[in-house]
Amino acid sequence: MIYGDGNCAIPGCKTKTKIDQLMCRHHWFLVTPQLRLNVSEALRHYRRNEITLGDLRVEQDKAVNQVKPGSVQRGEIDGVQTTIRRFTPDE
Ligand SMILES: [Zn+2]
Repeated sequence: MIYGDGNCAIPGCKTKTKIDQLMCRHHWFLVTPQLRLNVSEALRHYRRNEITLGDLRVEQDKAVNQVKPGSVQRGEIDGVQTTIRRFTPDE
C-alpha cells in the first residue's frame, strides 16, 4: 500500500486526497486526535530523515486500522458493553 499518492488509504474509499495526505478528510477525522498527532509527527520526522519509512508506516497503519471497514467503531464498543457483574466474596 502506497500512502500519500493522492488516494485515501482506506480500502474502498474513492475520495481523492492531496499528495502526502494519508486519507480523505472524512476518514482522517474518524481517527482519534492522539493518533492523528502521532501520524503528523511521524511524517515530519520522516521528512527530516530522523525516522525510517518503516517507522512512518507503523504509525500510518495504526490510523488506517482504526477507521478501516470491519474494525470496531468506538460507538459500537459502548453499545455492546455488558453490565453483568457478579461480586462473589470467598467467605
Ligand atoms: Zn476516505
